[in-house]
Amino acid sequence: MSCCAAGQSASKPILVKSSDDIKIMYDANQIVAEVLCMLRKTVTVGMSTYELDKMAEDLCRKRNSTPAFKGYHGFPASLCVSINEEVVHGIPSRKRKLKKGDILSVDFGVCYKGFYGDSAITIPVGRIDHDTHRLLTTTEESLQLGIEQVIIGNRISDISQAIQECVETNGFTVVRQFVGHGIGTSLHEGPEIPNYVQKGSRSPRLIEGMVIAIEPMVNLGTHKVTVLRDGWTVVTADKMPSAHFEHSVAVTKAGPLVLSSRENI
Ligand code: MG
Ligand code: MG
Repeated sequence: MSCCAAGQSASKPILVKSSDDIKIMYDANQIVAEVLCMLRKTVTVGMSTYELDKMAEDLCRKRNSTPAFKGYHGFPASLCVSINEEVVHGIPSRKRKLKKGDILSVDFGVCYKGFYGDSAITIPVGRIDHDTHRLLTTTEESLQLGIEQVIIGNRISDISQAIQECVETNGFTVVRQFVGHGIGTSLHEGPEIPNYVQKGSRSPRLIEGMVIAIEPMVNLGTHKVTVLRDGWTVVTADKMPSAHFEHSVAVTKAGPLVLSSRENI
């Protein structure tokens, strides 16, 4: 829901935004950025994921926005919380408490003045082991390299390739069953933004005014994933850890504009 099942938005239209639209989308995404920064500061051993969900929703509403994921296709919470082998779409719970050495992916979205914002980070809970730390830094680096390909005239596959190369060079794998997406007055618009290159298919070119959510989901072991019986939580098939970083990015003449940047928070 925060990210799309591959194939889900393939047929959705690509909608170009005006500069006024992009200004509102910046404001929407800055609310998301503020929430993620707040969560990163707050996360401690022993907290429940329910508490984090509540805090995220409270701050979102205080900023006159609504949580984008709550009720989306029936998702029961505002925040997606995915711990360790959970890739995306984990459901917050009073029973699930954070432990030292966990990694916690938090994915949040808002709707503000009719436009959506969507961004995600993975947070270490206390000290984490060396390989898992490298998984986090590589995932974030791959997102950055993907963003650098957001140039008018490039293809979506240029983004995908930059991400995949970074991840695989570092010995990790990219999830294929879930992908990034266009974003605007809907949470999920076309085009799909896969984190790997689909051989033999030509992807759309980037044009000025497109806004896309780029979101590498990177696994320490196999790229294969399955969905738990709750119908939501995506986990790695081998139960090895997974990381997720996401930014919403506008295509502009001046290059990529990272709407969900946390630099000014
Ligand atoms: Mg998201
Ligand atoms: Mg997304």
